[in-house]
Amino acid sequence: MSRLQRILVTGGAGFLGSHLCERLVKDGHDVICLDNFFTSQKSNVQHLLDCSNFELIRHDVTHPLWLEVDEIYNLACPAAPGHYQYNPIKTMKTSVMGAINVLGMAKRCHAKVLQASTSEVYGDPEIHPQPESYRGNVNPIGPRACYDEGKRAAETLFFDYHRSNGVNMRLVRIFNTYGPRMHPYDGRVVSNFIRQALEGQDLTIFGDGSQTRAFCYRDDLIEAMIRMMNGPDDFVGPVNIGNPGEFTIKQLAELVIELTGADVTLVTRPLPADDPTQRRPDISLARERLRWEPTVALREGLGKTIEWFKSIDLSTFRPPTPNF
Ligand code: NAD
Ligand code: UDP
Repeated sequence: MSRLQRILVTGGAGFLGSHLCERLVKDGHDVICLDNFFTSQKSNVQHLLDCSNFELIRHDVTHPLWLEVDEIYNLACPAAPGHYQYNPIKTMKTSVMGAINVLGMAKRCHAKVLQASTSEVYGDPEIHPQPESYRGNVNPIGPRACYDEGKRAAETLFFDYHRSNGVNMRLVRIFNTYGPRMHPYDGRVVSNFIRQALEGQDLTIFGDGSQTRAFCYRDDLIEAMIRMMNGPDDFVGPVNIGNPGEFTIKQLAELVIELTGADVTLVTRPLPADDPTQRRPDISLARERLRWEPTVALREGLGKTIEWFKSIDLSTFRPPTPNF
């Protein structure tokens, strides 16, 4: 157990951020959650508002921050393709200016800072599974580029602040993660399929459904992030965090139908441009350096996520963008 810290979580009201805040508050840290609520809502952290070691700030990371903290987890960025493509220029600004602002703050107050990067830095990968050494196959002018290239530029900034200014940093590359508190209207595949199945709608398969993804349950992901932050200073990453169990999108759809017992079928829609055909993390490095590997299988994690979707009132969620 690390000693108690003042910790800033940007994007702290989001799907992953809210779980991270919850865990850090539970561990006794003094937690500041900062968010502009673009793709989230206050209800994600409402249960923490009464805790004396939790604070909530509405702020946009593209504007400078001035706080005194010991650690920063930088998660602020829309993560679902429909959300990050809604205002692509803002997405790029969030990644790049957000990184500059948190790195500047980390430099000023000698804080340790962790960047939530993504498997999207590998683009549509020609190497499979993807190790951290793979430099990727990103289309710099496609519709996903605002996110992919923004996150790649943020990685560059993290390493340059580390090399040039001695900023103590960590970089994790997160692969598809799912679980309770995903925004039901984020358009991501797990949330779409579960919402559609529970509403008795046919599941929308983009393309022929043969593209693959590897799905990590949120608790496994949060554990890995915290281990990375608390690990030795000479291991800065990048490190892949994800579940190596690989499934086609069609297999995922069939599993959701089985687990919900929904009387629905599959309908196809056009495959979006630059949609990666395959994705699976090589997690050898995380296994070796973090002594971490995922513990929740897809069937189990989906079961918990379906139960959460059954428990929510969809009318209390505002779609952040029309893309779902
Ligand atoms: P999310 O959309 O639920 O969370 C992102 C949060 O950032 C939201 O609360 C949003 O309101 C906030 N935000 C967006 N722009 C902001 C800005 N300019 N200023 C302040 N706050 C802003 O998504 P998530 O799945 O929780 O993702 C969290 C982080 O993890 C993101 O950086 C994302 O790129 C990364 N990531 C997630 C996944 C995944 O599968 N969930 C995979 C790879 C990387
Ligand atoms: N997808 C799908 N139906 C949907 C939503 C997504 O078939 O309703 C596909 C999408 O084309 C992609 C995969 O599911 O191949 C994962 O999409 P998601 O948006 O969750 O994340 P990505 O990994 O593409 O960032």
